[in-house]
Amino acid sequence: MDELEFCPVCHEDSAIIEEEGGWCVYVQCTVCGTHTSFIRYDSEEEKADAEKKCIHLWNMGKVIREQRAE
Ligand SMILES: [Zn+2]
Repeated sequence: MDELEFCPVCHEDSAIIEEEGGWCVYVQCTVCGTHTSFIRYDSEEEKADAEKKCIHLWNMGKVIREQRAE
């Protein structure tokens, strides 16, 4: 498994890989809620590839900041 970098927004070592409904994965910060886009997969092989892709997105800083209501 590739390493997840610290969160690019809050700089905490708090990123985890999340699974959504058995069809996609994404990386999310458990502190501030920043996340990558969802990467869809259709099989176990594709799932491993999808995890690598979202880890790469995260480490590149291609993330979506959680919009918080004030
Ligand atoms: Zn964060």
